[in-house]
Amino acid sequence: MISQALLKQFDLNGPRYTSYPTADRFSTDVAVPELEEALAQVANTSRPTSLYVHIPFCRSLCYYCACNKVVTKSLVAADQYVDSLSQEIALVAKHTGRLRIAQLAFGGGTPNFLSLEQFARLFNSLHAHFELLGSREQSIEVDPRYLDDGYAGGLHELGFNRVSFGVQDFDERVQKLIHRFQSFEQTARAVREFRAAGFESVSFDLVYGLPIQSRESFAETLERTLLLDPERVALFNYAHIPERFKAQRRIPNEALPTIDQRVELFLYARERLVDAGYVAIGLDHFAKPSDALAAAFKSGSLRRNFQGYSTHQGTQLIGLGASAISQLDSCYTQNAPQLDAYYARLADGRLPTYRGISLTRDDRIRARVIESIMCEGRVMWAAIEQEFVISAQHYFTNEIRSLEKMQDSGVVNISGDTFHVSEPGRLLLRAVAMIFDAHRARPLQQVASESVHPVRFSSIA
Ligand code: SF4
Repeated sequence: MISQALLKQFDLNGPRYTSYPTADRFSTDVAVPELEEALAQVANTSRPTSLYVHIPFCRSLCYYCACNKVVTKSLVAADQYVDSLSQEIALVAKHTGRLRIAQLAFGGGTPNFLSLEQFARLFNSLHAHFELLGSREQSIEVDPRYLDDGYAGGLHELGFNRVSFGVQDFDERVQKLIHRFQSFEQTARAVREFRAAGFESVSFDLVYGLPIQSRESFAETLERTLLLDPERVALFNYAHIPERFKAQRRIPNEALPTIDQRVELFLYARERLVDAGYVAIGLDHFAKPSDALAAAFKSGSLRRNFQGYSTHQGTQLIGLGASAISQLDSCYTQNAPQLDAYYARLADGRLPTYRGISLTRDDRIRARVIESIMCEGRVMWAAIEQEFVISAQHYFTNEIRSLEKMQDSGVVNISGDTFHVSEPGRLLLRAVAMIFDAHRARPLQQVASESVHPVRFSSIA
């Protein structure tokens, strides 16, 4: 049994470790020159690459949202954006040459804000500069409320084969408080259309910890989810940070579930999804055993990057679009989040990146340990020692002491040269990972004066 005091850490608004170091450690001291150098290194490897394209536009504002987005009804706004993306693609390719793309993901915002014509234009640029592998995984986040007839088929013709729907909660009373009105029928129709168009995998994003959610109401959302039979479910914890995300101020504090209720919601959802045959993966993902994510989890090849969990080992990630993050061997960099700044840099013929972090050897070692915790819930020291030629006992003396304390609390089990996060301890996966986060010892304002990367709830991974 884990104590209440420890369980409180479950609710911390800490990193989800889609990377280490985390994006809130980025500094404007690292930007274009470092990215250019890293891109040149990508050019010299034969490793396949992942691309992430951020589409920031949304037609309406969801109050809980912490993504980088621009709320507008003007389709014309996206024309300029598509032109700028094409420019950015050409600029990146100037440094990398014709990369082989194994994975291509569109996130937002709302990627289906773009018309099929705008997508076609974008794909002309992508095909002109990169080799999009025939076997590639190509995914898109879709808002089911805004789907034209034939849209799913059009996307499939462009090579999309995976879709992730933002659902959050089917309860209309919750939807009212978060300002996201989405009927069950809208979601069901979207699922039907994408399946009929030939999409191989459907994923749902659900959020717990939203106002007035109760076990009973969330149970109903889960039953409706199961009716629609998605291959994957991502179950995100709502992080209420109204001082940082203005729209969240419209959500009444007193309507939010308490920490005990949030734990109950998560545990119930986890149990129900596992009962229904899903494999629980990492922090907050569930996948059918036949799904690639579950297979990667089982074989120990699951990876974590800025898009969340990934089945692609050894790839480097290049982010395109406002606020997009690139995750390369020598550094991580982020593009300007504001559209004006993003456009202005490209208009000057510069890569639109504005901040980042160069990785040290220590960062790489810790990143590997943290990734292992977040993906597999365990660390086998022998593998880390072999990869980095270190003695874990010496390198992580203090961290291992902290792990021993966590063992006394029932969060981890240490045996031989391996430690596992216990089944109840999985609630505290982030807290375990945090033990290895050397950057957290430094005050945040010393390393990043800009706003931190947003917490996201509509991630595809
Ligand atoms: S949750 Fe999604 S659709 Fe809603 S405002 Fe945020 S990015 Fe846009």
